[in-house]
This record gives sequence, structure tokens and C-alpha cells, in this order.
Amino acid sequence: MGARRVGTLEATVDWLLTDSRSLSFPEETLFFALTTKRNKGARYIPDLYERGVRNFVLSQEDFDEWSKETGDGRMETGDVDSTLTSDFQLSTFNFQLSTKQGLSAFNFLIVSNPLKALQKLAEQHREQFQIPVIGITGSNGKTIVKEWLHQLLSPDRIIVRSPRSYNSQIGVPLSVWQMNEEAELAIFEAGISEMGEMRALANMIKPSIGILTNIGGAHQENFFSLQEKCMEKLSLFKNCDVVIYNADNELISNCVAKSMLTAREIAWSCKDAERPLYISKILKKEDHTVISYRYLEMDNTFCIPFIDDASIENSLNCLAACLYLMMPADQITERMVRLEPVAMRLEVKEGKQGCILINDSYNSDLASLDIALDFLVRRSEAKGMKRTLILSDILETGQSTTTLYRKVAQLVQSRGIEKIIGVGPEICSSAARFDMEKYFFHTTDELMASELLNGLHNEVILIKGSRAFNFDLVSDALELKVHETILEVNLGAMVANLNHYRAMLRPETKMVCMVKASAYGAGSYEIAKTLQEHRVDYLAVAVADEGAELRKAGITSSIIIMDPELTSFKTMFDYKLEPEVYNFHLLDALVKAAEKEGITNFPVHIKLDTGMHRLGFAEGDVPLLIRRLKNQNALIPRSVFSHFVGSDSPQFDAFTRQQIEIFERASVELQRAFPHKILRHICNTAGIERFPGAQFDMVRLGIGLYGVSPIDNSVINNVSTLKTTILQIRDVAAEDTVGYSRKGHLERPSRIAAIPIGYADGLNRHLGCGHAYCLVNGKKAPYVGNICMDVCMIDVTGIDCQEGDPAIIFGDDLPITVLSDVLDTIPYEVLTSVSTRVKRVYYQD
Ligand SMILES: *Cc1c(COP(=O)(O)O)cnc(C)c1O
Repeated sequence: MGARRVGTLEATVDWLLTDSRSLSFPEETLFFALTTKRNKGARYIPDLYERGVRNFVLSQEDFDEWSKETGDGRMETGDVDSTLTSDFQLSTFNFQLSTKQGLSAFNFLIVSNPLKALQKLAEQHREQFQIPVIGITGSNGKTIVKEWLHQLLSPDRIIVRSPRSYNSQIGVPLSVWQMNEEAELAIFEAGISEMGEMRALANMIKPSIGILTNIGGAHQENFFSLQEKCMEKLSLFKNCDVVIYNADNELISNCVAKSMLTAREIAWSCKDAERPLYISKILKKEDHTVISYRYLEMDNTFCIPFIDDASIENSLNCLAACLYLMMPADQITERMVRLEPVAMRLEVKEGKQGCILINDSYNSDLASLDIALDFLVRRSEAKGMKRTLILSDILETGQSTTTLYRKVAQLVQSRGIEKIIGVGPEICSSAARFDMEKYFFHTTDELMASELLNGLHNEVILIKGSRAFNFDLVSDALELKVHETILEVNLGAMVANLNHYRAMLRPETKMVCMVKASAYGAGSYEIAKTLQEHRVDYLAVAVADEGAELRKAGITSSIIIMDPELTSFKTMFDYKLEPEVYNFHLLDALVKAAEKEGITNFPVHIKLDTGMHRLGFAEGDVPLLIRRLKNQNALIPRSVFSHFVGSDSPQFDAFTRQQIEIFERASVELQRAFPHKILRHICNTAGIERFPGAQFDMVRLGIGLYGVSPIDNSVINNVSTLKTTILQIRDVAAEDTVGYSRKGHLERPSRIAAIPIGYADGLNRHLGCGHAYCLVNGKKAPYVGNICMDVCMIDVTGIDCQEGDPAIIFGDDLPITVLSDVLDTIPYEVLTSVSTRVKRVYYQD
């Protein structure tokens, strides 16, 4: 890596780490202290050192900044000004290296850019292997094509591949690092979000076989045009032997022609019989598709158990790769029909008897086991629940049983798993390696027949099985059966939204995330936990009890209470919940209460009224406010803020600017009176988007986090999906009516479905009688008649559906704004109306 080494410890490195939370084998880990816009990996070095990590890659600046070498080689931390953020505690850290140990206790590898060093290491590692490497890029389908190729090819060869969708500047080096002596083929994904990024990925992957899945609008924001994006993607293939793509896609075809690749092409086409791979026929049946093709003058046919266009396209890309690798046609046919859907989610569900279930149906291998265990540890840490793993045999890894289960046992041990339930002959035979509470079964049926599952309680349970073991039975048995109506919350999408807004801020601007009203209906704990993991500076809730609940569940982030009640001071002091203070009455009462408890310097947040005329000190109150604050030391103003009235709407821009001016004056006046820094903030979501100049020291993100942008919804991700299941379908004659008060008039013979969601679940009654619709299998199904308390009826005439099919009330393809527009309200109200009896189910892509 061209690093300068400080330290002389003899060490072997097996694991590369970029996120300190994912540590599993400290002694064999090399930590890369990456610097992002928001965070410095170097901050976590002290903590990692405590946990046994001895090898670090960091930049010269970071090294200089917080460490200085004294004459005897002892490390001391430099003085880093301890800011108000609690996780920045380098100043109190001391490596505690005795002079005797000195330099032999660690290795610091100092480089100019740790990310580049990581990539360089991956490049060097890649150089050692001469095996075929498939590089996959494109806007959609990368992970599915990768996993399907693995399903198709792995019976005959040992394959390494990117875990999940590790395809970024950091994900790719970590993927490439997995290449080893035994591997006979590697499959890596490459994902980019801006120009110039592919070069680094191409240098690490060095694919010999290139697949371009397709080009779409995802991650478009940093590209000038689709063509530019396509050309950038194709640069992955510059030294490939063969390139695979859809020749019927004009954009791709043109770009391939323009990019002058020297590689052979297996362009497939459904139209042009002259192309190397001609798809002569695609026949969709009820639940499978029959595909005929001609390649090298030979005609063949295969089936896939899917009928959607994306799956067909993905299978054709796989077909081309298999043909290039000279897989016999009958083998292709035989394996294509057994392709399995790729589940990319880690689902978190409520289990019976207080358990939490983490269901990972993603392919079972060591790397994905590691990721899932990491996820489990993070979920169980806060709640202090027992960690349990239900694991089947891991198939087709190419490693010997002995090596594989030695590694599994190490991994499981290092993640602090307390109980393992193993299923399958191989894991059974390795039972002795697991040093913890353990149970082993030869088959899933044996496990199901035992009483074991019934006895699990208050545990966080990771369920991870190879497909052949059909662990759906296990998760079914453990799952708490709930009302069929659920609100699905996509935590990954929320994090993407968080990062979207973070990218609009100056690096030093702090952020408050609003998790009031149960995180806008999404459920506060899981949301707060995820935000805490992503190190937002503050969380804000409405009342003290919400904050106390979060504390009890293990949330340690700073929390602001927006509406402190006079009766809740004790709770706030006990749980270190920082109140907003908006008038003298509240201020005096708080001071008195804090003094009674002997508390000093308790942080509070001063609210100014700059135009909302709801709560807050007026500008004219500030001199008196300063005097009162200076006259006591129970409370200390940590921040001063105000709230916009109409930042989302250009018609109020003059007013908004006036609010900013008043805030500027009043907050400066307050700050001048105190020697310590008082954080200033005024922007909500719309403010962040529309008034970037008003960021001050901090912003408050609300609705945007939850997937609704006040300006342009297409740039952020939907987070919540309210869905239910069709209970019953019946045919109703044209002259009949549906529902209470005979409101549902039919104009034709109709198919009417009943779904178990009503106004008591938060489905507003005004949506009934045809005012709105839900989605059934992608089609609009209008509400018929009055919405009842717990059930409503929808018209599914002409929609291909049956009892048990899902109905989407709102979600990715039916934005909340469609409903809020019909109701003449705002999306906030629709989101927060979903009643608590609707179970929240969280998942992470
Ligand atoms: C709710 C709230 C926000 C967040 O507003 P969004 O429009 O959801 O971004 C910000 N500040 C205060 C004081 C709030 O009450």
C-alpha cells in the first residue's frame, strides 16, 4: 500500500474492517480509518484498541492530529477539543502503552488516503489469481444476476462472490479480498453513483467476463445523461474477454459501439437473428416462462419459474454467461427451471414469547452469516436479550467440512452467540466445536418435531438456513401471528434518505432527527436505534415519556423533548432528556426543579418565536432571558432555535427570509452573552432543501427522513408500506349495493374483495365510496361503499387476484401524497394516523 509503518508488532491479517461496529476477530483485523464527509474512522481507533485490534491504516493528518510520538516511542493523544458530541472522546483516551511495550504493541500504517490504500490492497490481492472473474454492472438486477449465476454454476465450481450487494468503493475491495486459493470463479458487482468512480472498481475487479444488466434512472442525480452513465459503466469492461448485454436496448447497443471495446460480444436479442445469442421465443405461462434460443447454430429451450420481465431479462444475461463458460445446453435447461428467488432482506419480526426474529433467507455462506450475525448483535445489544442462532448446513462453499465449521464456530463465538441450534448432518458432526448452549438435529423435520422451539423466550433469534432446509417452517412456527394488516418500514430506505439530506449540508452542520409521534408513525424504537447507529447528533421527541421509553430500550443518543410538561421534569432529569424552553414560566419552573435536585448545567434548548406564533420567546424577550439564564447555573442553553411557517412554499419566501433575519439577530444576541458555543438551528426538511444558506449549526430533519419530500418525491425513497391481505372475494350483481347504508352502488356485475383494514386502523373514512384506491397485484382497486371500522371492500373486477393476495394501501407505487391529496390534508397526517394496532415490521435491504 506504500504505507509508512510505525510499530513493530508481528501480525497476520485476515480481516479488513472499515466499520468498527462490525469487528469480529480483533487480532487478525486491519482497520482502515476512512474519512467520510460526516465522520472520521480515526475516532474509533481507541475503542478498537481496547477491543484488541492492533493494526490500523490511517492518514497522515489523522495521525498527526491526535497522536504524537514522544522520544521514547510512547503514544500519547493530542488535545482534541472536546466538542459537545459525546462520542468524540479522544481527549480522555490514553493508549496506556507502557514504555516497555512501546512500539512492539501495534502497527500504524500511515498513508495519504486510507480508502485508496484499501483499494490498492484489493488490487494487489486480485493480481494473485488467474481465474475467470465475472464483473456485473447496471442499474438493476446486479445482485439477482450474481446470485442466479451462483445457483447455476456452483454445483461444478468453487465460487467467491460479493456478499449481498457489496458493490461500492468500499464494498468492492472487501469483496475482492475474499478471493482465495480454492476459488475457481469469482463474481463481483460494481455499482457507481457518479462519474469517474468505475475506474477504481475496474482496477480491483479486473473482470474477464463483463455483464451489463440494464441502464435505468436509479442513481441518476450525478450524471449528465443516461448515455454518460452507460459509458461510465462500460468502462468496467475495458480488458474483458467477453461482454454480455441486451442488444435490443438501443442506448446500450449504441454505447457499446461507441466505447470500442476489444472484447468478444455475446449480445442477446429477441429481434435480430444475426446477434450471437438470438432469443427466438418467449412464452409466458401461468407461473413459468418458456424461452427458446439459438446459439452457435443450435436451437434450445429452457424454462424459468418466473413470469415478470425483469426476471426474464436477468435469466437471459445468466444464459449468455453460462453459454460462454461452455455449460452444456441440457444442464442449463435443468438448472434454470430450479432458479430460486433472491431474498435480499434481513427481516425483523416480532416472535412469540417476547422473542425478536431476524430472518435471513439470503443464500447461506460464511460472508452473509457474518453480516447477519453483525446485524443480530446490534439488535440485541441495547435490549440485553439472549442471542440465539438457528443455522443449517452451509452448502456448496467448496471448503472442507472441518475448515468450514471451524470458521463458523469461531465466528459464532466471537459474536457472542449464547445458544446455537444446528440443523443438518454436517453441522451435527461438528457439534463439538461449538462451546455454548447447543442443540443439533439432522433435519428440519426433526427440529420441528422437538419441543425446542416452543421453549424459546426473550431471545433475539437469527434464522439462517440454506434453501434445501426449508427454514420457512421454522420462522413460521416462531412468528407471532398478527392481524394481517402491517406497516412495513424499510430501514435501508430511511438511511438512504438520511444520507440524501446529509449530502446537502456542510460537513460540520449537525443534525437533529425528529422521531416525535412515534417517528411519524413508523415506530420510534427501531427508527431511533437505526439513527443512533448512523450517529445523528440529536433525536427529538414530543413528550418526556416518549424519550424515557427510548432510554429504557437502550437509546443513548442525545434526546430533545419538544413539549416538556411541567409534570415530567423528574423523568427528564433521570433520563437526561433535554427540554425545549419556550417561555419564562417553564424556565422558572425548570430552574426550581433542577435546583431542588442539586443539578447543575443541565442542557436546554431555547425556542424563539419568529413568526409561527405558537410557542417561543419573542425577540424582545431576549435581554430578560439572558439575565434569567445568567442568574442561575442549574440549566445551560445548548442550542437556540426557531421553526419555519412555510419553508416548503415559494409564496412565503419573503416571510421565511424575514424569519431567518429575526432568528439571526435574536440568536446572535443570546450567543454573545455566553462564552460557550450555543448551537443555532431553524431548518426543517423543506428548509434544508430550499434555504441551504440557513443551515446555521444544525438542522432538524423530519418528513424527508420518512420518505416524503416537500419538493420532489422522486429523489428520495419511500420508507413505509401499509399493506393488508384479501380475506374474501365474491361476485356481486349490478343492481346490488356494498356495505353500510347501501352506499356502494355498482354499475356492472362486479368482483368485490374484503380486506381487513378500516378506519380504526387509520384508513380514513373519506377515502371510501370510490374516492381513492389501493393496489392489488399492481392494479388500482377502488374502495367501494363506506369504509367500516375494521374492514373495507374494494372493487377487483378485471384484476387477476385471489383470496390471500396482498393489497397495498400506500407504498412505493402508491405514494402517501395520493391519499393526502384526496383527503385534502398533508402526508404527515396520513402517516401518523396509522393506528398502533397495526403491527410495524422492519426490514433492511
Ligand atoms: C416536526 C418538526 C420539525 C420537522 O419538520 P419536517 O417538516 O417534518 O421536516 C422540525 N422542527 C420542529 C420544531 C418540529 O416540530
